[in-house]
Amino acid sequence: MNEDQLLQEADRRARDYVSGADARRVFPTDQDIAALAGFDEALPEQGHPAADTIALMDDLGSPGTVASNGPNYFGFVIGASLPVAAAAERLAIAWDQCASTEDGSPAAYAIEKQASKWLLEILDLPRSSAVAFGTSATACGLSCLAAARADLLARQGWDVVNDGLCGAPEVKVVVPASTHVTVRKALQVLGFGWNRVIKAPVDDKGRIIPDQLPEMDANTLLVLQAGEVNTGEFDDFSTIIPRAKAAGAWVHVDGAFGLWARAAPELWHLTSGVEQADSWTTDGHKWLNTPYDGAMAICREPQALARVMNSDAAYSTASAEAQKNLTLEFSRRARGIPIWAALRSLGREGVAELVHRHHKQARRIVAALDEAGFEVLNRVVLNQVLVRGQDDAATQAILAQVQNSGTSWFGGTVWQDRPAFRISLSSFRTEERHVDQLMNLLVQIGAKG
Ligand SMILES: *Cc1c(COP(=O)(O)O)cnc(C)c1O
Repeated sequence: MNEDQLLQEADRRARDYVSGADARRVFPTDQDIAALAGFDEALPEQGHPAADTIALMDDLGSPGTVASNGPNYFGFVIGASLPVAAAAERLAIAWDQCASTEDGSPAAYAIEKQASKWLLEILDLPRSSAVAFGTSATACGLSCLAAARADLLARQGWDVVNDGLCGAPEVKVVVPASTHVTVRKALQVLGFGWNRVIKAPVDDKGRIIPDQLPEMDANTLLVLQAGEVNTGEFDDFSTIIPRAKAAGAWVHVDGAFGLWARAAPELWHLTSGVEQADSWTTDGHKWLNTPYDGAMAICREPQALARVMNSDAAYSTASAEAQKNLTLEFSRRARGIPIWAALRSLGREGVAELVHRHHKQARRIVAALDEAGFEVLNRVVLNQVLVRGQDDAATQAILAQVQNSGTSWFGGTVWQDRPAFRISLSSFRTEERHVDQLMNLLVQIGAKG
């Protein structure tokens, strides 16, 4: 099989997989999972034919996948892959560009530049901000937090990039007590130490209580969130950010999925004031429905991000806005390309429609669950529905039945010390009939499990 035939074969298998997404079991059967043992081969001395490898991957692998690129997956905030974003990724893979600098790939550079511009427009953030396309909100958040620390310390005459942390004034980090685990991870990797991080008290919606914020000063790094992972709620940006800025703090906003509320006129109000922050992270691979791994670090002061991310060398110098000088990666693929393709194909209206549709679907589910006697734990401002059965045992039983059903899937969580489950609406493939199917399943199981 030559290269052309091989790529055609992979494409044929990929197309079959995607076209079967609707009918596919959402979570594989035990048998399909057991069959994955077929990958446990000895490292071959002589390689296998290429077509064999693709066939094995598809024949054993595809049945063992989770159909998160389908309409019936309501776990986490996963999103599917828009056809145009997946197709753009396919072409970009054929290009195989090292999209670190303009020299490395003029085309990737031009497209990512355009994606940055549109992103700042659709999210309505300061237009002169730097946009770095990284692998995840985790990695992009880490970049922003590193930029924040260097900037806060530089303002006090401490050059953390060259002099490090020993002897530096301590940066006081404040996060919502409900902050996402990946913010914790990023802070730990940066050496902040979780025990020293101040957890600001939050209300029953997971939002910081503004009056209970600790005192902030010019050495404070405050992290807020747009879209709490259980409730989908937002911190009160228009109250908190001006206060933090007046004290001289740096404000970072984790908006992995929630920042997209800003693209929907009906939900924009949730993010009011967020534009006053210093840095933001959001994902493409969640609500924008682009393939993994695609996320963005956005930094109001481009120089602050460039200061910590610069990787110029004698053999590789580039402008401050080269992606290798803004992201953690040196060699990298142009993660902005599928994001550009999604924005170009959806347009402002398409993104607004996507976000608003999921919000309406979430509200429809709540109404049905309320009526069926489930305990809905949040007020559904966004796309997340947090639910319990009649008691903890019922909640666990409902979760297991849905996860084993093969027709829909969502995950469990713990909310205020008791089990709950989380239904997330974020796949562009989810139509009303898929929502109906999920509601029927839950009503049939019942709140008593
Ligand atoms: C998913 C998520 C993250 C982490 O994003 P990744 O892209 O998975 O690294 C951070 N914060 C929130 C609120 C999230 O939902």
